[in-house]
Amino acid sequence: MKTATKNTTTAKSKSAADTKTKTTASKTSASKSTSNGTVKAKPSAAEGLRDLFVDSLKDIYWAEKALTKALPKMAKNATSENLISAINDHLAVTQEQVARLEKVFSLVGEKAVAKKCDAMEGLIKEGEGIMEETEVGAVRDAGIIAASQKIEHYEIATYGTLVAFATTLGEDDAVLLLEKTLAEEKEADILLTEAAYNTINFDANEEDQDQE
Ligand code: FE
Ligand code: ZN
Ligand code: FE
Ligand code: FE
Repeated sequence: MKTATKNTTTAKSKSAADTKTKTTASKTSASKSTSNGTVKAKPSAAEGLRDLFVDSLKDIYWAEKALTKALPKMAKNATSENLISAINDHLAVTQEQVARLEKVFSLVGEKAVAKKCDAMEGLIKEGEGIMEETEVGAVRDAGIIAASQKIEHYEIATYGTLVAFATTLGEDDAVLLLEKTLAEEKEADILLTEAAYNTINFDANEEDQDQE
């Protein structure tokens, strides 16, 4: 009896999920994809590497600006002095990176325009989610480090690509500036890893044992 009820529920929720998937799929294919799955380009689509480079600059410009607002919130939620100062240091670095991007825009003869970065919006949201799921203290600190490292890795990937694009485009002055930022993002990632390995993960683990 119990089993039968359970099976019915499972079957029901499965078909509900199927319906949902179907709806999403048809919506996506209607708005973005052609019948063979190729995404249809917008009229504003990049026509060459230079356009793609500029689009990527606009994307990371938005992302860095969003981080200047998100990092103070993370610092406020951290308790480890080491972590708080790492985040605050990186906030100052991030503000410089925003200014450096403005220089890159002007070097390549483009206006500095921010275009929403869906990935960074998601990564920042994920960080907020991790904070909601943890009590203030070492465990939240460990979560903040995890979220921050996802952010740094996204930035490392982005600046690595931007350096490669600028190199191909022969924008040598832009390459130097972008390489500088890339090095800063890598440094931030290393500092966060060290903070986690040296103390915070151990403290977070002990917090768990205190509760048992
Ligand atoms: Fe950055
Ligand atoms: Zn981005
Ligand atoms: Fe992006
Ligand atoms: Fe960064």
